[in-house]
Amino acid sequence: SHSYQHKNIAVFGLGKSGMATARQLHLGAAHVYVWDDNEGRRKAAEEEGLIVQNLAEDSWPEAEALVLSPGVPLTHPEPHPVVGLAKMAGAAVIGDVEIFLQEKKAGRIIGVTGTNGKSTTSALIYHLLTAAGKSSALGGNIGTPVMDLPELDATGCYVLELSSYQLDLTPSWQADVAILLNITPDHLDRHGDMEGYAAVKRRIFQHQDEKGIAIINIDDPLCEHIATCLAIHGEGRLVPISTRVRVAGGVSVIDGQLEDQSIGDQSWTIDISEIGSLRGRHNWQNAAAAVAAARSVGLTSDEIKSGLQSFGGLSHRMEEVGRYENVLFINDSKATNAEAAEKALTSFENIFWIAGGRQKAGGITSLAPHFDRVCEAFLIGEAMDQFASTLEGKVPYQKCANLEEAVLKAATAAHDDKGKDAVVLLSPAAASFDQFTSFEARGDMFRKAAVQWITRETT
Ligand code: ADP
Repeated sequence: SHSYQHKNIAVFGLGKSGMATARQLHLGAAHVYVWDDNEGRRKAAEEEGLIVQNLAEDSWPEAEALVLSPGVPLTHPEPHPVVGLAKMAGAAVIGDVEIFLQEKKAGRIIGVTGTNGKSTTSALIYHLLTAAGKSSALGGNIGTPVMDLPELDATGCYVLELSSYQLDLTPSWQADVAILLNITPDHLDRHGDMEGYAAVKRRIFQHQDEKGIAIINIDDPLCEHIATCLAIHGEGRLVPISTRVRVAGGVSVIDGQLEDQSIGDQSWTIDISEIGSLRGRHNWQNAAAAVAAARSVGLTSDEIKSGLQSFGGLSHRMEEVGRYENVLFINDSKATNAEAAEKALTSFENIFWIAGGRQKAGGITSLAPHFDRVCEAFLIGEAMDQFASTLEGKVPYQKCANLEEAVLKAATAAHDDKGKDAVVLLSPAAASFDQFTSFEARGDMFRKAAVQWITRETT
């Protein structure tokens, strides 16, 4: 364990995680120099007794480490990036997770990374552990900054969701259980190309010893490649997961049947096709990974089964927000692009689809193979005309002034289809910023409108 007591340390970026780091280091009697381009954040830091100093312009405070917020580009600010200054001064450039690991006294680490599914998988693991009465904490990229997590004892588990940026800034990363879900081209700006991106994601497994567990989704080609490398060079136990093939020593989900063969001769199965919060192949991958993780820290199959059943899912990700007679309301506001909306479209049938918002490149043309699942589309926001032209002649649609109107029209149309199960699905395939402050605000509005419609029908 490392102590920053009486040492100088610099923190650049004072968002939630940067501020938590600066505060904790300050409480631990370090001399904390902080900067954020935002004046309001600098003021807040000053009020907490932190030393506010322009790290990129004033003289370097002889800090032994620079803690960089994951949102700050390595080239910031141009033309004299603070990262360059820190390196020239011999300081380590790290993130909050590095500090957390150095200061951590006890507890096991379960790390989750990948392009998609990190939050769902991390939240599910945390749910399985807490439902089984195991002491655990959830943080990182999701919710609570790591430096604000409670102290656990040796039997506790920290479930940490990590982006590739965070891994990049955590040189001594070492997980007891490490999970890699998938690698698809996203955020290539920072890591250059797929190779570089894969190299960073692979670091989730670094420094694992023979007690380490490496959980990998082998349905993903790059991940499978990494699994092959680990099988040859890795120290830890490899637990492959798949939704396509049964895997010895791993966890698979085929046709909704999850089979856990991760522990020798103690295999067991559960039908997860009926679990509403885990709909769709992508969620089966997440569930398989979570089951493998829970099993590897000692949960029994019965504990895992009951935990899977009581999992409520995450808000705004194919979240069930209401049901009335034949109509089910699904909030998938997080689907801000076509790839994410595809997950929802392929998970349901008889869809009354609410889509639109601030459009992304390519629009919804890639979704055409799934249009046969859509009964009618209800279009909102700036993307309305573009989406309409893609749907023309394939799917009936209506243009709606706003989300409330879309919900009303979609629900009424779905209900008129009486007897036939129907889904009113908000999966916009577009960003929310034309009409909302965030995808969360958009999802909350959808939920409110759905509940209003249901209430009106029932009274
Ligand atoms: P993240 O935290 O990595 O952004 P989330 O769990 O919040 O991931 O899921 C975000 C979106 O990514 C979901 O709405 C879904 O469309 C998609 N997704 C979830 N899990 C997976 C997966 N295993 N593979 C591919 N896409 C996924």
